[in-house]
Amino acid sequence: MKVIKFGGTSVGSAENIKRVKEIVLQQNENAIVVVSALGGVTDKILNAARMASIGTGYFHSELTEVKNRHYRIIEELFDDKGNDVFDRVDKLLKEMEKILTGVTLVGELTPKTIDRIVGLGERMSSHIIARYIPNAVWKNSADYIRTDSNFGKANVNFKVTNRLIKSEFEDFKGIAVTPGFIAGNDSGEYTTLGRGGSDYTAAIYASAIKASSLDIWTDVDGFMTADPRVISKAYTIKSLSYAEAMELSHFGAKVIYPPTILPVYQKGIPIQIKNTLNPEGKGTLISQKDGNGKERPIKGISSISGIALITVQGLGMVGVTGISMRLFTALAKEDINVILISQASSENSISIAIEEQSIEKAEFAIRSEFEKEINIDQINKIEIETKLSIVAIVGDNMKNTTGIAGKLFSTLGKSGINVIAIAQGASELNISWVVKNSDLRKSLNVVHESFFLSENVELNVFLGCRNRWRASFKPASTTTGKTFK
Ligand code: ADP
Ligand code: ASP
Ligand code: MG
Repeated sequence: MKVIKFGGTSVGSAENIKRVKEIVLQQNENAIVVVSALGGVTDKILNAARMASIGTGYFHSELTEVKNRHYRIIEELFDDKGNDVFDRVDKLLKEMEKILTGVTLVGELTPKTIDRIVGLGERMSSHIIARYIPNAVWKNSADYIRTDSNFGKANVNFKVTNRLIKSEFEDFKGIAVTPGFIAGNDSGEYTTLGRGGSDYTAAIYASAIKASSLDIWTDVDGFMTADPRVISKAYTIKSLSYAEAMELSHFGAKVIYPPTILPVYQKGIPIQIKNTLNPEGKGTLISQKDGNGKERPIKGISSISGIALITVQGLGMVGVTGISMRLFTALAKEDINVILISQASSENSISIAIEEQSIEKAEFAIRSEFEKEINIDQINKIEIETKLSIVAIVGDNMKNTTGIAGKLFSTLGKSGINVIAIAQGASELNISWVVKNSDLRKSLNVVHESFFLSENVELNVFLGCRNRWRASFKPASTTTGKTFK
């Protein structure tokens, strides 16, 4: 049995849902089909909820749009007007309206209420698709995926979840369609797995039933060398190891939600990323590293914005054990996720990158923890920089290749980009660096050009050259960042 997941764009119109049906029917294998809400619907529901919470009636316009999207799609998909599915979806829309009205009246929107309404997007889309695919049955993910009550980004109880999924699906034959993103807690309340969480839902099912494959169908041709919305020349990567995919997604490649990789990696289940709008495309295979050593050292580049950097500095930190432990414990107690750490070997300063929104909390936590050291000047500076981004290049083969860091930083330097902090793990799978938001686009462009387009550049030049040039000619543009047309 395999697990197939379709994202928001893939199920965002009647035309695309028709493609989804074709793709599912071509599989010739029992399948659990996990679907997202119709593209854009999750944002609309969240918007409506926010409007309701400030007590305005404006949520009605958002709600009407959500309603009309669903009614129209049902009308376009079903000749018989899909009466039964219309009733089901209409009931869920009425539930949404009732909750939103309640939120307006009380003027309060709790994370629990948000999860209850935001998950309606997936519940509606999955009913429509289950009805549209012949002989498919609808199953509610909230019945099988059990989480704690950390609404908004709940933690999965894998022991219970695996048991529930196995007992339902182990002997299942046919096609089951089920909502992504939603789950349930022990009290029978709806929870969600975090934005983009439908990928994770699919991975949870795949891991529990030890699926033959996890196929993620989205709106691009696969995992690409960079975000195609930013880098127009980004191209599809044929294959990635689990570790590479995990690093790239962790550093911002939205094509796959980061927690997705671990459950399937643990079972050795391959992930295929494919384009619903171009099913013939080869896509990307994520699996164990094939280890043929012929791959490019760098597979992709990704980035995260909205970053702040805290630098703790002081001569009193040099050679003192336990400083880092106290620093990270203080941040962990406040639930602050550390994205990047950089420490000079002199140990007199340590820089930590975190999400900008946590900066005040982080500064307070650090100042409280090191109050004594600050008072006696052992720590003399806590510096904060905001409006930053982290960029990362990722590749398993980096460790077998010399000169990557040299090439990277000379490319950035020649382009006049100021690198604020740098980090490289000992595994050499990733080099990440911090730049100002205003330098982000340029950083991505010059590094992508330098590491990913150089082969294309050479090929283009060689096509126009005589053979005898081949051995010696190296185009200057590889280092200047220009491309040959
Ligand atoms: P879905 O709704 O199918 O889950 P998402 O919008 O979550 O799709 O993810 C797909 C999008 O991720 C693409 O449209 C693309 O803009 C973005 N993206 C960012 N980085 C990458 C990358 N390295 N490769 C492919 N897509 C990327
Ligand atoms: N619909 C949810 C979101 O937009 C989950 C998903 O699509 O993966 O975040
Ligand atoms: Mg997604």
